[in-house]
Amino acid sequence: METTEAFVGLTCVDCGESFDAETSHRCPDCGGILDPTYDYDRLDLTRETFESRRFDTMWRYEELLPFARDTAVTMDEGATALVEAPALADRMGVERVVVKDEGRNPTGTFKDRGQTVAMTAATLHGATDIALNSAGNAGQSASAYAAEAGLDAHVFLPDRAGFTQKSMTLVHGADLTVVPGEIGDAGAAYADAMADHEDDWYSTKTFVTPYRHEGKKTMLYETVEQLDWEVPDAVVYPTGGGVGLVGMHKAAREFRDLGLTDDLPPMYAAQASGCAPIVEAWESGAEHHETWADVDTVFGGIAIPNPGASPLILDALEESDGGAVAASDDAILDAAIAVARETGIEMGATCAAAAAGAFELAERGEFDADDTVVLLNTGAGSKDDDVLRGHLGTV
Ligand SMILES: *Cc1c(COP(=O)(O)O)cnc(C)c1O
Ligand SMILES: [Zn+2]
Repeated sequence: METTEAFVGLTCVDCGESFDAETSHRCPDCGGILDPTYDYDRLDLTRETFESRRFDTMWRYEELLPFARDTAVTMDEGATALVEAPALADRMGVERVVVKDEGRNPTGTFKDRGQTVAMTAATLHGATDIALNSAGNAGQSASAYAAEAGLDAHVFLPDRAGFTQKSMTLVHGADLTVVPGEIGDAGAAYADAMADHEDDWYSTKTFVTPYRHEGKKTMLYETVEQLDWEVPDAVVYPTGGGVGLVGMHKAAREFRDLGLTDDLPPMYAAQASGCAPIVEAWESGAEHHETWADVDTVFGGIAIPNPGASPLILDALEESDGGAVAASDDAILDAAIAVARETGIEMGATCAAAAAGAFELAERGEFDADDTVVLLNTGAGSKDDDVLRGHLGTV
């Protein structure tokens, strides 16, 4: 299998065992999450290496990805704008707020960064079909990348997934199964179907494939480069399964260990208070979440009651000296509308958890006056415009 020079294989985060890249999903020994591993000594990367390249797609960081750009299933995802938001800086009493606008990806969310790498792995492994369950955006993204790669996609979504996400999954030609209930119910239907297709369906599901968090590393590489190599004082991320947060933290460690930066940016997990297992675990000092019993939030993308990677998320918050914060659905929708009116930025409804969380952190005195705060706008406002518009009557 064709891989990049420094990529040496996959390491299990639970038992520590190493595997080569022919291994495709979870740890064959213990079932743990596999993490792509590199021999950084084989690389000679400087700031100039990246500065001399066009800021065109996330594959400009190919040395720090498992697969080469010329083997990638790509639609030029990544290289998204980092938008200055002085009105939000005023509101939060900090020097600078910037919004990493992931709505500018091919299917309108940062899920594309994970699917481009996972779909590349699928093709290199010789897959004909891919499968996953999702709250909506990952299903749409996987359908698009499967179409680009010429693979068949089998997508399991809960009925509460957004109209746009379900529609576009069908438009891309995927085999869509809509399951009554929540993401967990879609997961059960996926697992049932997968049991009959173990040999012919290749999973691109979160933390089942090792490559989704790997692709999301690039959000942090780009942000740091866009800030002229300044490490921000806070990165606030709307957290469900934590794929993006875990990936960005890994990226920050890599840049530091390669000598490109000096520090790790504090990572903050923002959740909806109606489903906040990470915030609860963080506040109680636990190393692992407890399953959230009663999901009560409209934000499907971050309503993950049982985030399997919680130990990795909590480690990232701890090691980076960040934190976790929850906001009510009302506060999140208010924040989305405030951002749309005080700036022109269209935040996805779910993504506005990052804005609402940051407002709350600012109120608690977590930030200093000279801080630079990064908000991840993980998806475009237009993907859930119905949810945003529905809130207008109440502001
Ligand atoms: C999937 C999703 C999230 C949550 O991502 P995780 O990395 O799983 O925590 C946040 N926002 C949007 C728009 C999403 O689609
Ligand atoms: Zn293992």
